[in-house]
Amino acid sequence: MNIILLGPPGVGKGTQATLLRDHFKLLHVSTGEALRKEKSLGTPLGKEVGKIMESGGLVSDDIVTRIVISAISDLGDKKGFMLDGYPRNLAQAELLAKMLAEKSIKIDSVISIEADKEIVIKRLAGRRSCEKCGKDYNIHFNPPKVAGECDVCDGAKLICRADDTEETHLRRLTEYEDKTEPLKAYYSSKGLLKPVDGMGTVESVFRDISEALN
Ligand code: AMP
Repeated sequence: MNIILLGPPGVGKGTQATLLRDHFKLLHVSTGEALRKEKSLGTPLGKEVGKIMESGGLVSDDIVTRIVISAISDLGDKKGFMLDGYPRNLAQAELLAKMLAEKSIKIDSVISIEADKEIVIKRLAGRRSCEKCGKDYNIHFNPPKVAGECDVCDGAKLICRADDTEETHLRRLTEYEDKTEPLKAYYSSKGLLKPVDGMGTVESVFRDISEALN
């Protein structure tokens, strides 16, 4: 099963992606994660994209498409792939469709996680992740057992992402509305779109997505 996850920043997409990855045994391809890794390793690509990411802008379609195609070329023992954070605009969606057609690979479903803008803004402000293992938390919606500490890493600190500022959030939301939301019509016209209400609990959203995929 090959799927695409759509949803505005702050909707809980990362949390759902981890659950879906484990439940359906999928290769999780997150372009944001891949780019952050390049940045932290200080590779030439990381240096090139670092400033763009910090400002909330979009990295070039060519770079992110190369990352995705390279990642899905080796599925190992996985049962398919899940794209998270890609495609983010129509050009990327068309590029992806062309590349996948060349490899005779099909996308089975596009899940769109939906939520009100005010909720999304609150979620973004509460976002934290473990500095050691990267596990995601939200101080409002998915808090750790002990405030400020990772549940699994024996007290490791929870930190804000470098690009988690209010200014960046607004820019990223606007980017989403302008460039990514039109993908819903694109995938709907192909009969692939499955909208899911993202305003419930982590468990209920996961259940709705799983049902939409079955
Ligand atoms: P994310 O973790 O998905 O929110 O991505 C973090 C940042 O990485 C974004 O704000 C962009 O600067 C960059 N990025 C991630 N995925 C893409 C993509 N598909 N196209 C362009 N830029 C991306």
